Amino acid sequence: MEQKKTVLVVEDEKSIVDILRFNLEKEGYTVTTAYDGESGLEKALSGPDLILLDVMLPRMNGFDVCRTLREKGSSVPVIILTAREEEADKVLGLEIGADDYITKPFSMRELMARVKANIRRTAMQQTGSAEAAMSAGGGLTINPENYQVCKHDKPIDLTQREYELLTFLASHPGKVYSRTDLMEQVWNYGYVGDDVRTVDVTVRRLREKIEDDPARPTLILTRRGVGYYFTAES
Ligand code: CA
Repeated sequence: MEQKKTVLVVEDEKSIVDILRFNLEKEGYTVTTAYDGESGLEKALSGPDLILLDVMLPRMNGFDVCRTLREKGSSVPVIILTAREEEADKVLGLEIGADDYITKPFSMRELMARVKANIRRTAMQQTGSAEAAMSAGGGLTINPENYQVCKHDKPIDLTQREYELLTFLASHPGKVYSRTDLMEQVWNYGYVGDDVRTVDVTVRRLREKIEDDPARPTLILTRRGVGYYFTAES
């Protein structure tokens, strides 16, 4: 029997925790919970398959939980639950290494779809076929066997989403993808409207990590008004 996936819910509103637990268990997930940021961080480090993380939490806010988690090297998928509509919040969440965010009040159906998409991505990575390390040019190598990306032989710490965006673009060198294409291909679901900003933020963070000069990228390039592509020359 396939092992059940564990979802950690970090949220201080009990009514939300209850309804999330009910729906997640109905979908076959094991649910663990934390009602404040500190215990959330502790449980997050014990290895759940996905984290639903509220922002406004007692003791430690969700952004700090996520940031600390990434600093400690965890790449578990994190979906931020934010009550706030502000674009700044969404961007901040992604800047500090969250994989996704959803705004409250959310549709349970959409939330479940995102949980499933994020867990499926992880599972695909873990069972991914052994492929040879790929030299992507510019001193960059991608090793799909251990999800390791190196720049001039020095390992680079990428979040799961950054890794996926990079490998997707790098495996189709020279092909230009619109932000909407990338949402569908890398994020696994269609986005509408300004949510494509998510792609821009992720590209920017990726460039900061892999480019010699992020302001003058030579690996992930912008085709103005169209989208992004990985350089064809290597
Ligand atoms: Ca809260």
